[in-house]
Amino acid sequence: MLPEHAEVLIVGAGPAGLAAAIELKRLGVGDVVVADREPEAGGIPRLCHHIGFGLRDLRLLLSGPDYARRYHRLVQEAGVPVYTNTTLTGWQGPNRLSFTSPQGLGEIEARAVLLATGCRERPRSARLVPGSRPAGVFTTGSLQRFAHEHHLGSAGVGRRAVIVGAELVSLSALMTLTSIKIPVAMMVTELPEPQLYFPYRPMKWLLADLLTRTPVVPRAKVSNIIGYKRVEGIELTHLDSGRIERIDCDTVVFTGDWIPEHETARLGGLEMDPGTRGPQIDGAFHTSKRGVFAAGNLLRGAETADWAALEGRRAAHHIAQFLRGGQWPEHGLSLQVEPPLAWVSPNIVAADSPSSSFLFRAREFRREAQVQVYQGERLLHTQTFRHLIVNESMRFSGEWVKDAQPGGEALSLRVNL
Ligand SMILES: Cc1cc2nc3c(=O)[nH]c(=O)nc-3n(C[C@H](O)[C@H](O)[C@H](O)COP(=O)(O)OP(=O)(O)OC[C@H]3O[C@@H](n4cnc5c(N)ncnc54)[C@H](O)[C@@H]3O)c2cc1C
Repeated sequence: MLPEHAEVLIVGAGPAGLAAAIELKRLGVGDVVVADREPEAGGIPRLCHHIGFGLRDLRLLLSGPDYARRYHRLVQEAGVPVYTNTTLTGWQGPNRLSFTSPQGLGEIEARAVLLATGCRERPRSARLVPGSRPAGVFTTGSLQRFAHEHHLGSAGVGRRAVIVGAELVSLSALMTLTSIKIPVAMMVTELPEPQLYFPYRPMKWLLADLLTRTPVVPRAKVSNIIGYKRVEGIELTHLDSGRIERIDCDTVVFTGDWIPEHETARLGGLEMDPGTRGPQIDGAFHTSKRGVFAAGNLLRGAETADWAALEGRRAAHHIAQFLRGGQWPEHGLSLQVEPPLAWVSPNIVAADSPSSSFLFRAREFRREAQVQVYQGERLLHTQTFRHLIVNESMRFSGEWVKDAQPGGEALSLRVNL
């Protein structure tokens, strides 16, 4: 059971939380504890039984489970206790959280809290897909749980699948279905093209085009799910022609469309960002609540695991600095996006925690796009991108931060049309 006090409490034992814990120990912070609601540490990679993890943080190319095991081993070697089956359920004071575990309910108070609770895919219900409610509808996450945690194989999952989405995680769904020998009829995306670019496009050629011969159908949408007890098919509406066709399948996998696991953050009253739907943070992972930091996919939905781990590592430095008596910054200027941009992170610009760069995503494909930062109507920065790609994060420089007027008007990120 979690102790009553700790210097640092980390909520979430995924790559971000574990990497932060290891780094905090390396920096000499003595009393760090990690809690996770799952029975094992490791986060999402535990159930991603394919290669593609660890390049930038561990300088290795590992499968998801190997990557999770390696972090688990490193955190054990660092001497950080990880409390599994332990869910943080609410806040009882500024940095005092309640939890539930097999040993009972409890409360823990920490000088600093790192929220690293990750993200999840939006399920069918939240996407408002019409039709009946039969069995056989998954997200990639739930599919991988059925396949690799409960080992249900094709008998437990289905016989013919449609994947909704054509981005990196959709390839992960394709790999999972292929590994349990379920043929995939097609991948469907509402966008005009799949969202797989260098270095992932060869993966699409190999997996979808060559090995499994899975067509990608662009500009199409699942407009009805048909079936009584079990999915029997879907109706697919082609968005340009309005044509509706029926596809026979007994499995539908909704992929991507991420939503941060922000419940703990919300319960703590943290300011949330309307674009990312995660907590607002500045360049040093400070949230709006003193002593509470956030890192990893909670901040804005899924990046790769190594990115989340590197964020956890960087957050550890700022946590250590705070514990050494550093100040908590005044809440800085808010940076908001305007359509067709989807979000930007960090989304708070604080003079004492500047960011060297910012990540952002767009909702529309654009060529030769000028992305600009304004304070009110004053132009602070322009950066040209050859392509804006949907479902792919892009980065712009933070060199303009010094020119923003503290206490001035809010900042906005726009595309010059
Ligand atoms: C299907 C799929 C395939 C992927 N493939 C790749 C790939 O090939 N390569 C790659 O680099 N990345 C891949 N990723 C992305 C990668 O898994 C994530 O970027 C990474 O896991 C994010 O780490 P995180 O620590 O932010 O969150 P997570 O790994 O999601 O960990 C968050 C943890 O927080 C815990 N938690 C949440 N709320 C609470 C609470 N209230 N109390 C206690 N615990 C809580 C959760 O149980 C979870 O263990 C894939 C992701 C998916 C979904």
